[in-house]
Amino acid sequence: MSSLVDILNQRLTTAREQNLFRELRRVDSAPGRQLRSGGRAFLNFSANDYLGLAGYPALKEAAIQAVEKFGAGAGASRLISGSLAPFHELEEALAAFKRTEAALTFATGYAAALGAITALAGRDDILILDKLVHACIVDAARLSGAKLRIFAHNDLEDLEDKLRWAEINRPAGASVLVITEGIFSMDGDAAPLREIVELKNRYDAWLMVDEAHATGILGKNGRGLADELGVSREIEVQMGTLGKALGASGGYICGSRALIDYLVNRARSFIFSTAPVPAAAAAAAAGIRLAQSPEGGQRRRKLFDRINQFVSGLKEAGQTAMHPAGAIVPLILGRENLALTAAARLRDQGIYVPAIRYPTVARGAARLRFTFSADHTAGDVGELVKALETLELK
Ligand SMILES: *Cc1c(COP(=O)(O)O)cnc(C)c1O
Repeated sequence: MSSLVDILNQRLTTAREQNLFRELRRVDSAPGRQLRSGGRAFLNFSANDYLGLAGYPALKEAAIQAVEKFGAGAGASRLISGSLAPFHELEEALAAFKRTEAALTFATGYAAALGAITALAGRDDILILDKLVHACIVDAARLSGAKLRIFAHNDLEDLEDKLRWAEINRPAGASVLVITEGIFSMDGDAAPLREIVELKNRYDAWLMVDEAHATGILGKNGRGLADELGVSREIEVQMGTLGKALGASGGYICGSRALIDYLVNRARSFIFSTAPVPAAAAAAAAGIRLAQSPEGGQRRRKLFDRINQFVSGLKEAGQTAMHPAGAIVPLILGRENLALTAAARLRDQGIYVPAIRYPTVARGAARLRFTFSADHTAGDVGELVKALETLELK
């Protein structure tokens, strides 16, 4: 038998040959519009810190105070050694923010998806997923053992087909859960939530929406896309992360009191995992307060000014980008090496943008993924557009 190291090296060589090898790039600076790496400064268009809160004084201060009061670590899972006050304060803030009865937080958004989906769906149940949902939802769906059906991205007719199939094939007492996202993480477009709500009601299914990229930036006070479209109350399971626009770390599920009590009892990624650090909860609560404040409103306006500036700049440069629903603008280049080369050329010009490749997106759909922050200046975006004009993106 070959050694583990030999086998892994063979696989890594294959990944390199296919331009799919990934490596970590060390960064030596705090989050913000710029980052320092390898002794150089880059303009940063790669973060999901859309409101620029990760390095914002009020969030840092909240984290520091929580460390002083509650220490560096939580010590155990929340059901074992008591549930620290900062988590309760955060969950009350989240439920009020999302206007749901209750909320539960997890160590990450990934853990929230894993815990909630496997708690809600078992072998007899049916999960219907948009083709482009995040990997954590795909992994959770597989782990649940439920029957899976995938509908073409944002395709209501195909979703209805799958709901019809489920209506005929669901065993008595089995449930059907449709899962989609608010804003899609790699394409930047929005789900037609009103129509999806109408369909799931018609076919007696439940709906879960992952608002990882919409929370904080869309809807009144940043409540998200479901709020903006007025369908928040019709969505049984609202999920998201505290690690993107809200500037901290962690994942959440918002919904009915019954849902949250059930997850406390059944969500294995919640039950069998040490509580996150209290500082993360305190920072996230400060992020939610900030998102709802006048400062949050100003930051959202600034963010959308920058996004609009970029999209018009791209058009002038002869590039076609889909008009984004949020702060993610993909520029699809196709072959993996094209995206890698473009990202490297941009780095040469002091601009940091990720080349997104398989398995994050389909093979041959590699892209540059630009994300924006309220901290970017008009000059930053101007520099980015100018750098793109010098690349031959074909
Ligand atoms: C980032 C992301 C997650 C995972 O959240 P984390 O808190 O980073 O684990 C889940 N869903 C979507 C759509 C995401 O983009």
